[in-house]
Amino acid sequence: MTHILHRQINAVLPVAAGGQGIELFDREGKAYIDASGGAAVSCLGHGHPDVIAALKAQADRLAYAHTSFLTNEPAEQLADRLVAGAPQGISHVYFVSGGSEANEAALKMARQYFVEKGEPQRRNIIARRQSYHGNTLGTLATGGNAWRRAPFGPLLIDTHHIDPCYAYRHQAPGESEEAYGLRAAQALEDKILELGPETVMAFVAEPVVGATAGAVPAAAGYFRRIREICDRHGVLLLLDEVMCGMGRTGTMHACEQDGVAPDLMTVAKGLGGGYQPIGAVLLGRHIFDAFAGGSGLFQHGHTYICHPMACAAALSVQEVIERDGLLANVRAMGAHLRGRLDACFGNHAHVGDIRGRGLFLGLELVEDRSSKEPFDPARKVHARVKKEAMARGLMVYPAGGTIDGARGDHVLLAPPFILDAAGADAIVERLGEAVDAAVR
Ligand code: PMP
Repeated sequence: MTHILHRQINAVLPVAAGGQGIELFDREGKAYIDASGGAAVSCLGHGHPDVIAALKAQADRLAYAHTSFLTNEPAEQLADRLVAGAPQGISHVYFVSGGSEANEAALKMARQYFVEKGEPQRRNIIARRQSYHGNTLGTLATGGNAWRRAPFGPLLIDTHHIDPCYAYRHQAPGESEEAYGLRAAQALEDKILELGPETVMAFVAEPVVGATAGAVPAAAGYFRRIREICDRHGVLLLLDEVMCGMGRTGTMHACEQDGVAPDLMTVAKGLGGGYQPIGAVLLGRHIFDAFAGGSGLFQHGHTYICHPMACAAALSVQEVIERDGLLANVRAMGAHLRGRLDACFGNHAHVGDIRGRGLFLGLELVEDRSSKEPFDPARKVHARVKKEAMARGLMVYPAGGTIDGARGDHVLLAPPFILDAAGADAIVERLGEAVDAAVR
């Protein structure tokens, strides 16, 4: 009997009792390899002694101070660190408690930026059909996941969705990756022209699409063309790196690999590695200047912004990643894991695509590999993979249902950055068994 309203109302979940390294343990003592870091959260794994020590020290010093009265040291230090490592043009940081809050704040920054600049007619948000940006009403409206939006449709602000950059399903036969990337990006310009460029506020996208698609990176050249289109029409580029950012793809920010810098970027999950809830908006100098030279305030705020415990945890997580050279391990172990996935699933009858970057990898499961025909959604293959994996002591993040107007089942892997070869091999071995059991 539980008094918690869980997402699956009748689910009976194991009770998490502890965690160490890449494993979590339930109350009965069963161990699970956390191959998805929860939802791409636990980048340092569990029970990291340095982060725990930093948290204890901060708890002794100061747990909370409201930002309308005081700033605090961990928040200042974390902001300095994030700006120092940020893409070009980013000058300030706004701390919140998670990914949805970060995207909600970023959307309001984009809107207020144009109000400050005397362009209040800019109100249209364009995003992609295959996307998830959060579960608050504003971010839910922005995301393109039809299934998540459905019950709340009448409450959602008007937003506009274009096709994603999704080579596995949308690249035409004979079309090069570059040609496809440019064609996919053109959808943004077409939409901006249709709406009237003077009405468009922001384009929102995940550089590597996570929860709705199973680690889909954009085709080469896509984001560079997107950046050009945004610049041409004065539209802000908001990159949602809540899931794919903070080292997950092998560089600090995923967009580095696409050769673009955003006007606004959101990060969360891997920022605090799950040791505390935290998210952040990284904003460009031009946005800061518009606020500073205009009304002099950002018309927003939550009680827990810049929370000292959350910022201290994130600061420690980020220091450990740098000190231990973990981005190099993400690249090395990402390549190793990818190699093992290719060996195990490269010729699998029900695995249509293996993709991703760094330790952010996905499988697309299909009924028929050659026709790419998805499974009948009634079979709930993604949910079965999750169940079979849990039975084998493996946590993977599944997604399925109606995505991008198409059916699909995906498995997302986002293991901790401390992964070693033995851990990667164990993940693939258990996943191989789980997938076979699920599609049987
Ligand atoms: N954006 C992306 C890309 C995400 O993956 C998520 C969470 N899955 C969110 C936003 C929302 O973050 P949160 O759940 O922390 O509110």
